[in-house]
Amino acid sequence: TEFTSPPLADLLMENIKLAHFTKPTPVQKYSIPIVEQGRDLMACAQTGSGKTGGFLFPVLSESFSTGPADLPENTQSSYMRKAYPTAVILAPTRELATQIFDEAKKFTYRSWVKPCVVYGGADIRNQIRELERGCALLVATPGRLNDLLERGRISLANVKYLVLDEADRMLDMGFEPQIRHIVDGCDMPPAGERQTLMFSATFPDDIQHLARDFLSDYIFLSV
Ligand code: AMP
Repeated sequence: TEFTSPPLADLLMENIKLAHFTKPTPVQKYSIPIVEQGRDLMACAQTGSGKTGGFLFPVLSESFSTGPADLPENTQSSYMRKAYPTAVILAPTRELATQIFDEAKKFTYRSWVKPCVVYGGADIRNQIRELERGCALLVATPGRLNDLLERGRISLANVKYLVLDEADRMLDMGFEPQIRHIVDGCDMPPAGERQTLMFSATFPDDIQHLARDFLSDYIFLSV
């Protein structure tokens, strides 16, 4: 199997080649068509399985093909600019968020999609400065994202893709209230339809519960 069925955007295929990825891992092979069909996904996948590509590739392929939305951020004055990400990826730790961001940078090379990363325990002013330069794909830890929402620096009104990576670890770390607040924010008008993808190494009761609350008519994938 190759990265050609279903076809991914040309620019993404070029970036996948630059990364020397020759064929999809099993989780990528199954998740890419599911996400491209517009379905919600609950995937049980371990670190090292290629799960990052499993959600980045279909989301980026669609974003590259669709092009930038007509965003308020493009008409705002430079003072108090707000970021309107199309895709939001939640991760439990700074390390994982940074890893996902590094992959996102590789695969958005020469595209219109600008990735940003925000996490706690680091100077928020530098993160705000990055967000002010525009942010189509946001990788975030839940606490810092809520902080930036409260400060009016990020709007979830344009979110088309919400990814919860390592959801079991986020629950173990006590992030459930922050995650629920973010999901509620994505559902608030004028936000439109959202596609939600959850990745978790394990599938205990509390994760099943979250999946029922956040996903609609989802496909369950275990690799
Ligand atoms: P992940 O599970 O997403 O953290 O990925 C684990 C490692 O595998 C990372 O170093 C990726 O860059 C690499 N990787 C992911 N997908 C592929 C692929 N299709 N071909 C080769 N390497 C890959």
